[in-house]
Amino acid sequence: SADGAVRTRFAPSPTGFLHIGGARTALFSWLFARHYGGQFLLRIEDTDRTRSTEEAVEAIFEGMRWLGLDWDEEPVFQYARRERHAEVANQLLAEGKAYKCYASQEELAEMRERAKAEGKPQGYDGRWRDRDPADAPEGVAPVIRLKMPRDGETVIRDHVQGDVTMPNNVLDDYILLRSDGSPTYMLSVVVDDHDMGITHVIRGDDHLTNAARQINLLQAMGWDVPAYAHVPMIHGPDGAKLSKRHGAMGAEQYRDMGYLPEAMRNYLARLGWSHGDDEVFSTEQAIEWFGLEQIGKSPARFDFAKLANLNGIY
Ligand code: GLU
Repeated sequence: SADGAVRTRFAPSPTGFLHIGGARTALFSWLFARHYGGQFLLRIEDTDRTRSTEEAVEAIFEGMRWLGLDWDEEPVFQYARRERHAEVANQLLAEGKAYKCYASQEELAEMRERAKAEGKPQGYDGRWRDRDPADAPEGVAPVIRLKMPRDGETVIRDHVQGDVTMPNNVLDDYILLRSDGSPTYMLSVVVDDHDMGITHVIRGDDHLTNAARQINLLQAMGWDVPAYAHVPMIHGPDGAKLSKRHGAMGAEQYRDMGYLPEAMRNYLARLGWSHGDDEVFSTEQAIEWFGLEQIGKSPARFDFAKLANLNGIY
């Protein structure tokens, strides 16, 4: 990656406070961009209209500002870009790389049952893929699905996980546009990352399989595949995925408890990233030292005592 050309992003869904996992991913993306003198962008993924709230958007902005994670350019609001997302789905449809599917809810439920019984991960069998559109039932609004390759495999070249190979027959023809014309998460993310010129996608490894699907969409559009770094989730001291019961809170709550942003940055950076044996370092040092190579492959454990200890040092 050429210096100055790096563009990363943090893409939270505004459904609650800025939690530790999100703050840590944001910090990694920010450190990476700052290390290379590139840009760090913020995208609010507010397409889920029932779960997204204005308060959560404010909490994210507030938490980011408090942590000193300054973003470049105006934040992008994903919902506002839905027509652009639909345009891409329709382009793929026109090019024969996507198709209209009229399967009913009953059919889909049957397909899911069958797949489950056969131990197959995919739920949709591709039945409308090659069907004559003239067969379309009357008065039914279709969804638009991407034609995924039937054979071969998709390789995710990941800077943390290494090369991850996924056989294409486990990735079904997923939905790009719902029957009401609204774009799915998968479509929106790919279009936005492309249009925002994102070079490095740094996010939680719960998105790893999504990456395989997203790569196929990028290729269908003839777009560059960004570099990926899927960071292992943070775990609690007991080894389970970090949650509120471990004492994990929103950024603002840490602020209100008297934690210092420098201490938080130092602590969050150490959750999955390391620089030799250094435990205490400044943000300037973290920017200078940061690289994706030193992100661990196993989940970091959240430790309240360590955080408190660091805070005492600052
Ligand atoms: N909005 C997604 C989330 O909060 C992140 C999507 C991404 O980073 O690609 O999990």
